[in-house]
Amino acid sequence: MTTPPGSADVTNGAAATDESPDRFGDNYHGTMAKHLVWDWNGTLLDDFHAVVTASSDAVIALGGIGLDADTHRERFRRPLSAFYNELLGRELTAIEFDRLNDLFHNRYRDQLADCRLSAGAIEAIGTWRGTQSLLSMWRHDELVPLVTEHGLFDYFTRVDGLRDNADVGKHQYLVDHLAQLNIEPTDTVMIGDSADDAEAAEAAGASCVLVTGGTTSRRLLAATGFPVADSLLEAVRLAQPSTT
Ligand SMILES: [Mg+2]
Repeated sequence: MTTPPGSADVTNGAAATDESPDRFGDNYHGTMAKHLVWDWNGTLLDDFHAVVTASSDAVIALGGIGLDADTHRERFRRPLSAFYNELLGRELTAIEFDRLNDLFHNRYRDQLADCRLSAGAIEAIGTWRGTQSLLSMWRHDELVPLVTEHGLFDYFTRVDGLRDNADVGKHQYLVDHLAQLNIEPTDTVMIGDSADDAEAAEAAGASCVLVTGGTTSRRLLAATGFPVADSLLEAVRLAQPSTT
């Protein structure tokens, strides 16, 4: 991939495949970003177990074979129809896809009360020196009360979830989110747990830091070329502009 704007000193092709947490070396001084856009599911919210269970049960209900965490982390992608078509080995009809979506959301909601914030979430949010917002692919009308319930709403200058049912990636939502905030993509870094977060950031012209432990394997995250962190605190450190 080309080096994304705002991350010219982030990495190089060789570093992307290096498993060492210090792979960016002493010369790495973070991005130039003033604004941080957080992802929610699998990033600030530790809900991956609920996501896998809901996905697996929905696939089984449509006649497929259930999936485990490793399978999810290797195969998850957007649009979701492509992810599920591949798991089921056939192309779902629009009616089947809607049914699968409903099954997923109902099963996911059943487990939501047991989902906690990811380790270090509040501390990581508190460490960022610029402005912050939240952009999620979870439904907006359910996201806002959830973020509020977890005590995070007031940290963010804007919280956006999905307000439509379009089965697309995060890119246009990120563009719209930043436009509403009147913030330039080149002043922005995202922290997320999926390749879709990376693709959205790159397409919008923002930078990105990825975290493991969510929907996507370290291998696939590293393949995006963006830095990969194993904790939210490390992710903020990698995203933070240098003060030196
Ligand atoms: Mg996510």
